[in-house]
Amino acid sequence: MKPLLMPAIFLLLVGALLHTGIFLPSAPLALYAFFGACLAGLLLSWRFHSSRIFSALLVLYLAQQAISYFCAGSFPARSASIALTSVGILVPLNFVLLSFSRERGFCWPSLASTGTVLFIQSVVVLVLCRPEPLPAAHRVAHSPHLPLAFAVEVGFAAAAIILLIRYALFRQPAESGLLCALATCFLALDFGGSGRIPTSYFSAAAFILAGAVVETSYLLAYHDELTALPSRRAFNDALLRLTPPYSIAVADIDHFKRCNDTYGHETGDQVLQLVASRLARVSGGGQAYRCGGEEFVILFPGKTATAVLEPLEQLRRDIEASTLRLRGPDRRRQTRGPDRRNQRMRGRLHTGHAIRQLGQRPPAWEISVTVSIGVATSATEKQPVREVMHAADKALYRAKAAGRNRIESASSSPRRSRSKTAGIA
Ligand code: GH3
Ligand code: MG
Ligand code: MG
Repeated sequence: MKPLLMPAIFLLLVGALLHTGIFLPSAPLALYAFFGACLAGLLLSWRFHSSRIFSALLVLYLAQQAISYFCAGSFPARSASIALTSVGILVPLNFVLLSFSRERGFCWPSLASTGTVLFIQSVVVLVLCRPEPLPAAHRVAHSPHLPLAFAVEVGFAAAAIILLIRYALFRQPAESGLLCALATCFLALDFGGSGRIPTSYFSAAAFILAGAVVETSYLLAYHDELTALPSRRAFNDALLRLTPPYSIAVADIDHFKRCNDTYGHETGDQVLQLVASRLARVSGGGQAYRCGGEEFVILFPGKTATAVLEPLEQLRRDIEASTLRLRGPDRRRQTRGPDRRNQRMRGRLHTGHAIRQLGQRPPAWEISVTVSIGVATSATEKQPVREVMHAADKALYRAKAAGRNRIESASSSPRRSRSKTAGIA
């Protein structure tokens, strides 16, 4: 929820500051803040290859420029009203389209197509508004507050629902950023589009989009893309905060090379995701990290080995009981008919102790893996973390040597926790 909570709280804070009058920037300050936020956001999204946020910032910039041009009192109310309605329809439409579009980085074709679409939209708005400036005598400092058309309100509501659904599905900062920036944009237009408060809202929307780029790069740096578990960098950070007592468990998938060889690397990746999803819900206050390949580390701050053995045993059993149903190219390659298992795969299913057939049910294209776990606890205040890690690694080697699919503690005698033959099925 963090990617959605942070911009939402920021928006609430901005709203509270503006409407209580605690902080109401002057019009030039609000405008500078808007330009600054747009520039910072454009630079960040260019540097981090986020073409969607880059385009969203361009949409926001053009929207603010169109509104401040037509709605500041220099044009007839009709032009101002058309500009407000056009922008009110185009912003949600563009945000939804951007949410559905794929991240394509900064290549000329993607930039050219986005630029062309935005150019055409700008020309259409200009033509629709048919700008005929008012004679100087009729100009006013600010045009009267224009109400938003019903179609605009419906468009914003529909776009907000779509973006919320997409955020719930993908949990990406780009989606939450687009959603919160859309809400902020609505407030800017609802307050007339031009003037101190609307421009401040436009600035807030630009800050939110820039923040989405920062949040995305944070996630990329601290989370593993394949499994969504915190990465080695996050693990190293967590180690710095550790104070004794604590336990470290190192988990390694058994015979994973064979899994890759038998079912393909893509299926191997799906197995990694399955195992990671079980590791993510380890009990006993543990936090799992993917530290490389098919090796995972679980940190238990404040826990001794005795306290973590039961949660780890539960985890081992959970992984052992989980099955992955083969899908994608691996499955499509199999022959159709009453027995979809091809001869090659059937042959492998009977090869060696590591690859087992689960019987007639579940079907042979459901596979499962086991893990071996080594665990160690900090012995003294002064013991360096790397020693505890080393002890956990040694315990893992012992678990592998003793037949796999088991937990070994650095301090205890071998645990007889193995219940099935280790490996993949
Ligand atoms: P052991 O029981 O002794 O651990 O045997 P193993 O076959 O699992 O041996 P090891 O742990 O050394 O195997 C690591 C394998 O994990 C090698 C590599 O092909 C595979 N691997 C590492 N990272 C990935 C990944 O991101 N995706 C896939 N599909 N495979 C990976
Ligand atoms: Mg392994
Ligand atoms: Mg390994």
